[in-house]
Formats: sequence, C-alpha cells, structure tokens
Amino acid sequence: MTSLSSPFELAQAQQYPAATLYVVATPIGNLADITLRALHVLGLVDRIAAEDTRNTGQLLARYGISKPLVAVHEHNEREAAQRVIEFLRAGERVACVSDAGTPGISDPGAKLVDAVRAAGLNVVPLPGASALATALSAAGDWVSTFTFLGFLPPKPKQRAAALQPLAAHTHVMVFYEAPHRIVETVQSLADAFGPARRILIARELTKLHESLWSGTLAEAPTWLAADANHQRGEFVLVVEGASEQAQGEADHDALLRVLLQEVPVKGAAKIAAALTGASRNALYARALELKGEGEEESDD
Ligand code: SAM
Repeated sequence: MTSLSSPFELAQAQQYPAATLYVVATPIGNLADITLRALHVLGLVDRIAAEDTRNTGQLLARYGISKPLVAVHEHNEREAAQRVIEFLRAGERVACVSDAGTPGISDPGAKLVDAVRAAGLNVVPLPGASALATALSAAGDWVSTFTFLGFLPPKPKQRAAALQPLAAHTHVMVFYEAPHRIVETVQSLADAFGPARRILIARELTKLHESLWSGTLAEAPTWLAADANHQRGEFVLVVEGASEQAQGEADHDALLRVLLQEVPVKGAAKIAAALTGASRNALYARALELKGEGEEESDD
C-alpha cells in the first residue's frame, strides 16, 4: 500500500532544474501566505535576486532562510540581469522576489525574465499572493472581464489625461494606489467616469486592519473621509467599466468629431450612419451638439 505524500514532500518531489530562474511570489501582508513550494525553492536556490535586499533579508529570516542576495530593482534591472545570467550560466538556481506579492506585477522582475529567456535560459514561475488576484477574488459577480492598470500617474493633470480614454472602456478596471494619493485618485475616478459606477476599495489585504468597502464613485469620497483610518495603508481599487451603450456613444462621438472637421453636419451624420448602422437622425442631433461644443471652445 502506498502512503500519501505530505504537501511539503510534494513540494520537494517536483523537479527544480539547475541554470533556472525561479520567479517566486511572497506574501502581501500576512507572512503565513507564503506557499510550501516557495519555502522549498527559496531554501534550495543558490542565490536570490531581490527588489530590496534588506527587506528580503528580513523576510527570509522569518522563515529561517539565509541566502546570498543580488539587488535587482527598478533602476538597475537591465544591468543586474546580466549578473544573474552569469550565475545561471555557471549552473546556479536563482530565485527572483519582489518586496511583496508577485514579481513583475507593478514590481521589478519582467525585464529580468525577458533577459534570462533571451539568453536561452529557463524561467519557472511559482504562484502565490498578489494584491490584484486577492482583491478580485472578493469583488463579486460584477467583475468578469477586467483590465489591470496598476498605478495611475501621480500628477493630477497626467492622471486625468490617463483616465479620459478609459471612460468608455467596458472592462472592470483595477488600479493600485498608495495612501498619500488615495483621496485624490478616487476623486479623479469619479470626475472621469461619473458618479454612478461601482467601486470596491480593498485596503490592507491580509493584514490586521484589512477592509473591503463597496459602493458607488459618488459615495467613495464620503467613506474615505468618514474615518482617517480609511485612508491608511495599501489599496486596490476595482472600478466598474462603461456600459456597452456608453461605449457605443463614445465611439460615435469620436467618429463624428473627425467627420465634422471635413464635412457639414448633415454629411457627417449621413456618413456616420452608413458606417455604424446607427440612426441618422440621432447622429444628426449629436453632430449638432458636438459642433456647438466645438464652436464654444474656439470662441474661448
Ligand atoms: N507585486 C505586488 C502584487 O503582486 O500585488 C504589487 C506591488 S506594488 C509596488 C504595491 C501596491 O500593490 C500597493 O501600493 C497597493 O496598491 C498594492 N498592494 C500590495 N499589497 C497590498 C495589500 N496588502 N492590500 C492592498 N493593496 C496592496
């Protein structure tokens, strides 16, 4: 009779070839969220490429692991990748970790992966925590298709410019945000997308003060202002996309704006109706509005 292997034996039983880069996810808060395979591989590798060697040194110490560390961060990733490739060519196993969560997701790691693969060497991912998947797992059924956008630009003007083309995007959108910008970013989302869209604010996931709040973009600033603690910590924002109808209207507007630069309102409506199959009368009415707006702007 064969006995069942324990989960840790299963982690050990897998093949971990030499001359390979292991991309290892680490916890996003609760240190118990490390996987058994991550612990096994971090213990097995010859070296660990880390976003911040001090942070990773401390994290590894909590698991009783000590390894030579190589700094691979945002500012040196390409050059550091060459060093890692030399270690791999010498037959080493190297793990890549970021400060928290999954490397390559709003974190260093992707350029290292590119360079290692371009050098003809193996890359093996080890799944684990990511704030993106953790927030989405508790968002609910309104999230089916989503687009991950990470951090928005920090400056208000650039942020508004980045959000403007997303107003007609029909996927749910997922953003990361830091505490010092959460209030202004949520306001920018409301300004760009209107008050009615749904938002999930996932804060301090897996940590002591974790909270998940869901409401509309109109309600979100009030929730943030209600308690100073609501603005503290790390955030994932999950925001409802535009309706198909809103996207259709935005597409029609874009087409009419181009046509109105070349032909009169009537002609623009006729061409747009032929191209889109939408009602010529409705397009005519909208073209008149857009022409009016354009003339107001040029009067300014
Ligand atoms: N690589 C990480 C991942 O897999 O999620 C993301 C790293 S990114 C530099 C850090 C951002 O992720 C934070 O500013 C926050 O937006 C989000 N984040 C990370 N940990 C989080 C947590 N525990 N709760 C909520 N958001 C978190």
